[in-house]
Amino acid sequence: MTMKFATKAIHAGQEPDPSTGAIMTPIYQTSTYVQAAPGQHKGYEYARTQNPTRTALEKNLAALENGDFAYCFGSGMAAIDSIAKLLLPGDEVIATNDLYGGSYRIFTKVFARYGIKFIFTDLSQPENLKQFINEKTRMIWVETPTNPMMSIIDIKETKKAMGNSKAHLVVDNTFASPYLQNPLDLGADIVVHSATKYLGGHSDVVMGAVICKDPSIAEQIKFYQNSCGAVPGPHDVFLVLRGIKTLHVRMDRHCENGMRIATFLVNHPRVEKVYFPGLPNHPGHEIAAKQMKKFGGMMSFTLKGNNYDDALKVLTHTHLFSLAESLGGVESLIGHPASMTHASIPKEEREKTGVVDSLIRLSVGIEDAEDLIQDLAQALAQ
Ligand SMILES: *Cc1c(COP(=O)(O)O)cnc(C)c1O
Repeated sequence: MTMKFATKAIHAGQEPDPSTGAIMTPIYQTSTYVQAAPGQHKGYEYARTQNPTRTALEKNLAALENGDFAYCFGSGMAAIDSIAKLLLPGDEVIATNDLYGGSYRIFTKVFARYGIKFIFTDLSQPENLKQFINEKTRMIWVETPTNPMMSIIDIKETKKAMGNSKAHLVVDNTFASPYLQNPLDLGADIVVHSATKYLGGHSDVVMGAVICKDPSIAEQIKFYQNSCGAVPGPHDVFLVLRGIKTLHVRMDRHCENGMRIATFLVNHPRVEKVYFPGLPNHPGHEIAAKQMKKFGGMMSFTLKGNNYDDALKVLTHTHLFSLAESLGGVESLIGHPASMTHASIPKEEREKTGVVDSLIRLSVGIEDAEDLIQDLAQALAQ
């Protein structure tokens, strides 16, 4: 039976527990499984390799991304690590330059040490690929929308610009969530998520996932999942399974609130610039309208005068928006990329991409939009 998104979110990969009828997938809190005779078991031997709670989530995520295989990891970074392990010394990766700080760090501080070359360029212009792509290019790495500048990368056009290169196109789909965007349908080979964010959705778990269609990529990711062992525990898996059941409902509200807050900020006299793909003057607006269902709940803005002290006042005077790293939970968060999420990127590098001192990032939650607007209004009046 083919299911639409909301039905998949609730049912894909999940069946009532065969032994008790429990409607919720049980938390199989076990490290090992009994065998009748050596090698005689029910498909489960040891919990690093397989766990039924994890299997349910992996099937669910594969369905949500229109993929065939999904693998869960102990964090988004562990998922990214497993993908980077597909690379060999001498390989080259072209990544968009407006990248999650942790991804930039693992590439430049961990994998670059093994003789892998990382090139950062603005991939919101897919033709920028052409000057760097060669026979050593093994991976193109993009996020869209990007963090924190919310620029939009055209996934289909990026795949096209890769020409007949055998490189894999990897899309970090954390900001959009599978409800708003399915990169595998647009030509991506691998999708990665920090499930810590919208998938979990309640700021109570750290997890990552890799989703793909190609069986040979899947085989390798599964091998690293088991061999390197960065697997999530069953209780965390249960929390993400439960979070996903309301993903579509939450995302609709995140998007609706996001649009209202972006409109408020655009019209505020102290605000210089608002980066939100739902605004018609956003440079990626048309592509976003094409490849995403709606525009999400993430946005950034700068203040007139671009002064750190002014930004600090706003950041420390909101009551509903909590000053914190992370995003995608039901509660609204406010953050300062230059000193928080992107502190590991050198000032020169980050300013080139727009991460200036007055840039403020919002993860708009699903509270009442009028309350959120009032909260921002009073903080901007400080
Ligand atoms: C948070 C995040 C990650 C890393 O995920 P963790 O779960 O924190 O390890 C990767 N990519 C993006 C876009 C993120 O926002």
